[in-house]
Order: sequence, then structure tokens, then C-alpha cells
Amino acid sequence: MINYVEYKTDVLVVGGGLAGISAAMEAAKNNVNVTLVVADKIFSGSSFNPYTWGLGIIAPLNDADKVDLVENIYEVGCGLVEKNLSYTLVNNIEDRINDLQDVGVEFKKPDNLMGDNTLIPCFDKKHRKWYGFTFEQSKPKLYQQIKSLNIKIFERHKILKLIKGDDTFAGAIAINENNQIIYFSAASVVIASGGFGGLYKHNLNTPDINGEGLFLALSAGCELINLEFIQFIPGYIKPKYKTIMAERTFKFASLEDPQGNNILEKYLPEEINAKEVLIERSTHGPFTSRLKSKYVDIALFKECLSNKDFQGVKLKYNIDVSTLDGLLIKEYFNWLEKKQGIMYNNEITIAPFAHASNGGIKINRKAETNVAGIYAAGETTGGMHGADRIGGLSTANALVFGTIAGNSASLYAKKYRNHVDKAFVKRQLSSFINNMKVSSVDPNSIMIKVKDLMWENGNVVRNEEKLEYSIKEIKKMEKYFDYKYDLSYIPNIAKHIQAYNYVKLSLILLNVMLLRRESRGPHYREDYPYQISDFEKYIVVSQGQDGMVKYTFKSTNKDSQ
Ligand SMILES: Cc1cc2nc3c(=O)[nH]c(=O)nc-3n(C[C@H](O)[C@H](O)[C@H](O)COP(=O)(O)OP(=O)(O)OC[C@H]3O[C@@H](n4cnc5c(N)ncnc54)[C@H](O)[C@@H]3O)c2cc1C
Repeated sequence: MINYVEYKTDVLVVGGGLAGISAAMEAAKNNVNVTLVVADKIFSGSSFNPYTWGLGIIAPLNDADKVDLVENIYEVGCGLVEKNLSYTLVNNIEDRINDLQDVGVEFKKPDNLMGDNTLIPCFDKKHRKWYGFTFEQSKPKLYQQIKSLNIKIFERHKILKLIKGDDTFAGAIAINENNQIIYFSAASVVIASGGFGGLYKHNLNTPDINGEGLFLALSAGCELINLEFIQFIPGYIKPKYKTIMAERTFKFASLEDPQGNNILEKYLPEEINAKEVLIERSTHGPFTSRLKSKYVDIALFKECLSNKDFQGVKLKYNIDVSTLDGLLIKEYFNWLEKKQGIMYNNEITIAPFAHASNGGIKINRKAETNVAGIYAAGETTGGMHGADRIGGLSTANALVFGTIAGNSASLYAKKYRNHVDKAFVKRQLSSFINNMKVSSVDPNSIMIKVKDLMWENGNVVRNEEKLEYSIKEIKKMEKYFDYKYDLSYIPNIAKHIQAYNYVKLSLILLNVMLLRRESRGPHYREDYPYQISDFEKYIVVSQGQDGMVKYTFKSTNKDSQ
């Protein structure tokens, strides 16, 4: 038996992005002990992503606009939206912005919102309120608040497993960078571990974003929803890998292969011209199969695949885009030059990068999952957005449902304070350690292979043959975990567990992608190029008592309020 340390708290929060921080702060205000466990450092994940200038957040203009925004979320989400969650989201954004302003966070705001078309959110049809969240100014203000609320922080600790007793949450097992196991006994938990972009070779996420929360939740009995919908955004391969591209500038650019040939024309149907698709592509960051701008990303992806040594596609501007009007453009090019050292006229090559996940753990409007004591918030959840998501609502989602989850989890903890039963903890730990999956090959090589397969076959363009091929290849990797090892000789247990999660989660993702035999939102199925009304159903993922993963089509709840 390897050694472990035990730690007791009321509410455990997993994740140090905006959802986790919001949850922890709200729970602590309700006079319970709160512990925040972060795989990386506090202020990490996509909420503090170094590959972008900051985060745009949108809010409704007024009460009438709330209804309009929810209707548009539903339309853009292609019907796969829980409207009651969208209403909760939209109704609470302004209050959460005010909370942050109260602790000293300063948002960038436009002088002339209605006159600035760069601020119409991606996929939206009109202006909403717009707030720019920047990292350096906000961190010290938030840190001060976290400290004043006595929130205990464990950085560089990874939650590996959620433990249940009598079907309710009881605690969690974590590991730190020194390979030390920690048991957190808690009455409730908020999973706020972000999306799963890290499962893709080219992604705009930080290395701590691997969908681990999804696997934790699924293994504990929670349901997952809308997993097949993940956004891809063009990012730079060169001059600085992993830099987000300003999509608003597409209409001033041409796309070329390494030999300098224009790539777009050959992918366009006869009746559509390059100029019109580039103009439309300039209105949204992530790919969508709903609009004719899809041909830009289809061309981009296919050309990237056909480059032997993966050079990406050349992005050449016809004018000086850095001086164009618009707050977003100005913020972006200022950041690009000052922080990234890149000028618009440098040699730039781009490719589709995995960006943000639109699906995840299924929650209700109190951020409850279907397991008592387990709550979830932020990008690790799904249902409030559908297939496509309106820009600026992912950060808003982290703030709104983070706060709700913190409140719900603290109320639950007050009612059901957990008493540590030493014998129970010992049994759980020894069962976990006895069943821990350690790989017989280098876990890094497994993750690299999974990422390659996911990027090539689970990207914006998909088809049955390639999805089945990836499933077959990844299934072969399961056998690496069949062996038993003495864990005291394994130097980096967390890496092995991460590789195991990569294999399991990528299989789940590829299976839901396979089951969705249509093109809807952020993916295009070559073999099923249209959206099909019979498919206006959720694919819900759950795990049976026997450990088998189940995929169930469920009708949408069209009228939920
Ligand atoms: C480049 C980029 C630009 C974006 N721009 C916008 C934008 O302009 N507007 C917008 O609305 N959205 C935007 N998004 C999306 C938005 O940033 C995220 O959806 C949101 O910040 C997610 O917040 P979160 O707290 O849910 O997750 P994250 O901020 O990703 O935080 C997840 C946290 O969980 C921790 N974690 C993960 N696994 C574990 C584990 N096993 N144990 C312990 N801790 C764990 C991580 O270390 C991290 O601290 C952008 C995303 C990217 C990548």
C-alpha cells in the first residue's frame, strides 16, 4: 500500500479557471470550508489562456433582449439546447459582471458599441452588451478576494477519482507532482475542470485541459451530453505556434498552399465565389457546417492533411489589417505585436485548432448532476449551449454556473456534512490503487498517438470510415493497460492515469461522433452532408454498474423554461 495524506473540507472545487474560482468564492461566502484543487496553478485553463488577448463576454441589452438571446442560442445550437439552462445563463450574466467589478476587476468596454461591428458576437445577428476580460489586471483582484474568504488552495494537484458512499459523493483522490496521494474527504464537489481540447494534436488550450472532469463524472455515475460538438478555430502554425487568428480579417486575406497557389477555389461549388465565403467567414471564429463559410475550413483542413510535413496554409493579407476599425481588432493586433512579437505582414500559416467544448457533464439549473453531492460548472458541462455556441457565452457560462454550483454545493454541504470514516477511506484507496491502470509502454507515446488520430479524424471534417479506423486503432491501445505493476516503482503515476483517460475518453468521443450520422453545427460529415431533422436528439453518455459505457438518444425538451 502506498502512503497517502488525508484532508477534510466541506466543499471541494476542482479547477482554477473562472468556473472553479466563482464556485469557490460563492461557497465560501456561505460559511463552509472550501478547498480548491488545481491541476496547474490558480488562474489557469482557458480562462487565463496565454494564446489570446483576453476574453470577450456578452450580456443581454435589457429584459426583452434576454428572450431574444435565448431564442438565438436555441437556433444557433441547432435545437440541442436545454432552454431552462440558457435562461438561467442569460438572466445572471450582468449580476456576475457586477460581482467582479465589485472586487476591482476592470472590463474593457467599447465607446461606441452599436457602431462597432467587430463586437457582434460570433453566430449572433445583432449587438449585445460586450465586456472584455483581461488577465493581468484581474488576477490580483481575484486573488485578494480568494484569500480574504479563507479558501484553501492546492496547486499542481490533480483529482484522479471521485468516491461515493451510499450513492452520494464522499470524497476524491488526488495526486501531486511528487507522486503523493491525497484523499480529500468532502460533503460535496464542484467539477470545473474545463473542456477536452487537449485530446487533439493541434489545440488552443493549455496542457491542463484534457477532459479529465468528464471521465471523473462519468465514472461516478453522472451523465454526459452533446460531446460530439467541439469548436475548431484557425490558429497559427507559424510564426508562433498556437496563436489564435483574428477571424474578422478573413475577408482581407487569401489562402495559399506552400507553393503559393490559392487553395479555396477548388473546394467551392460552382454557384459560390471565394469572396462571399470569406466575407461570411469573417463574422465567426469557430467553424460551422450551417453556413456556406464552411468551405473555408473544409479547404483549410484538407490542405493541411495533404501537406506532407504539415506546414499549414499560408494566410496573406491584401491590406494593413492592424489599423482597421473595431475594438476587438485593435485589442488583438496590439496584443499580437506587443506580447507575441508578430506583425500582420509576417509569413503566417494557419490550421484548424481544437478550441472550446460545447458539450459535457449534464446539469440542471442548480448545477446539480444526477449524483447527489456532485455539481459541475463551466466548459466541462453541456446543455446551455447546443451544437454551435454564440461567442462570448462560454466565459459567461463559467461565471454564472460557477456561482450557482458554489451556492448549491455549499447548501448541500451544510445539510450533509461528511464525517470521515477511516475504514471507508482505507477501503476506497486500496480499491483505487489495486485497480489503477498503469501502462506497459511510455504513456506520452500513447497520448501523442491519440492526439494525432483525434485531430485527423475527429476534426471539422469527419466520415464513418475514418472514425471507425480511429476507434479500432485506439482500442488496440487498451491492452497496454492490462498489466499489474508495483506502484511504488512507477515515477509518474499521474501520466499513466492521464494516458488511460485519453484512451477511454477519445473512444467515447469518437463513438458519439460516429453515431451522429448528419452534419450539425461544428462538424461536417462528408458521408452525411446535411442536418437531418430526425437527429434533433441528444446523445447522452452514461456508465452502467458493469462499467460499460452506454449511448442513448434522448428527445430534446423544446419548451423547457
Ligand atoms: C484561445 C481561447 C480563446 C477564448 N476566447 C473566448 C472568448 O473570447 N469568449 C468566451 O466566452 N469564451 C472564450 N473561450 C472559452 C472560455 O475561455 C472557456 O470556456 C472558459 O474560460 C472556461 O472556464 P472554466 O473555468 O470552465 O475552465 P478553465 O478555465 O479551462 O479551467 C479549468 C481548470 O481545471 C483544472 N483541471 C483540469 N483537470 C483537473 C484535474 N483532474 N484536477 C484538478 N484540476 C483540474 C485546470 O488546471 C484549470 O485550472 C476561449 C477559449 C480559448 C482556448
